[in-house]
Amino acid sequence: MKLSDIFGQDQTVAAFRRLIEQDTLAGSYLLEGAESVGKTSLARAIAQAAACKNPVSHPFDACGDCQSCRLADSASGNPEIILIPPAGEQTQIWQFWNREGHASGILDQTLQYTAVFGRKRFYIIDRAETLTNAAANSLLKVLEEPPPYAHFILLTTHAGRIIPTILSRCQRYRLLPVGQARLVDYLMDRYSCGRETAETLAVLSEGRTGWAITLAQQGREPEWITAVVELTIRAISAKTPEIGLKLADDFRQIANKSRKSEEKSSRSPDDNGGIAIERNGEDGALSQAGAPPDKLARSALSAAMNWGASVMHDLLLLRLQGDDLPIIYRSNRERLIQAAALRTPQFYRDSLELLVSAQRMLPSNVNVKLLTDTLFLHLTSGNPQPDAFNYSSY
Ligand SMILES: [Zn+2]
Repeated sequence: MKLSDIFGQDQTVAAFRRLIEQDTLAGSYLLEGAESVGKTSLARAIAQAAACKNPVSHPFDACGDCQSCRLADSASGNPEIILIPPAGEQTQIWQFWNREGHASGILDQTLQYTAVFGRKRFYIIDRAETLTNAAANSLLKVLEEPPPYAHFILLTTHAGRIIPTILSRCQRYRLLPVGQARLVDYLMDRYSCGRETAETLAVLSEGRTGWAITLAQQGREPEWITAVVELTIRAISAKTPEIGLKLADDFRQIANKSRKSEEKSSRSPDDNGGIAIERNGEDGALSQAGAPPDKLARSALSAAMNWGASVMHDLLLLRLQGDDLPIIYRSNRERLIQAAALRTPQFYRDSLELLVSAQRMLPSNVNVKLLTDTLFLHLTSGNPQPDAFNYSSY
């Protein structure tokens, strides 16, 4: 992965090109930014460029051809560029230092040796907010003053959850989501996505570039887009609670399927010379190395609720203002135009609010089956209560 493969983080990339070229890279960095915005890809590209034995200039980048680069681009990776994801929900001290009853710690094992394949050694600590206090404290000294050939890059979605003594030892860079128009152009240029699909993906991605790119790479509009549209239309035309419960079940399945296809595609090797896809662990093995399964299921459901809310948004728009407006689900325009007449604008507004408030409940300990069942019972009742989840006892 070269720096030139990183999409949408121009300023940060330019800063690191300069730092590496002038050999003024600090010992420790923190890259903060939303899920799938491209933190891991950027960290890997920085590491590869700094380790490369034969970098190119104008602009500065890795050569892609020396032994260090070839290892970095290989499936097994460069053993001197090490990604350290949490072990389960937390990042533990024994992952870094030797502790009885565990495999040897990566720093005890490697930090004392200079790099052999490349010029530098890199340790990329993914989800640094999951460091236990013991692990964080054990890293203070080495982050403050690593050996001259070693660098640390910490990645986080929540810098506020990292102890201040770690933060003060790192230089911080913030990665911002990419604007929609730029993402649309990029998806069309690079992945020959049709405009309609590119626009739908850009809106639904909410700036999670890696997510949109993964789907665009598959070369066609993902099936769940139509599935979500159909399911939402069935929910608003349904008349009985039995149908509501059945739809809730279908909805959970769609969320689950979309998660599986996303996992599968993010695990397959890049075939375009490295794309800015954020991975969730050493091999993109989400369920083992990254977040625990329950958290993933919740985030998949949260995404699906967002898609459902986007359908309501389109229906409301079409119902209120006619059918020549820029809606989100463009490829399903005809179907949505037909369905929009089924209900009143008020119905769509209430349903939209209900979906958004249900989505807000997900990060808490709420029972997801109960939540989705209740949501669809409301949606199919013909009279959804927008504040149904606001003071319930979930
Ligand atoms: Zn190289």
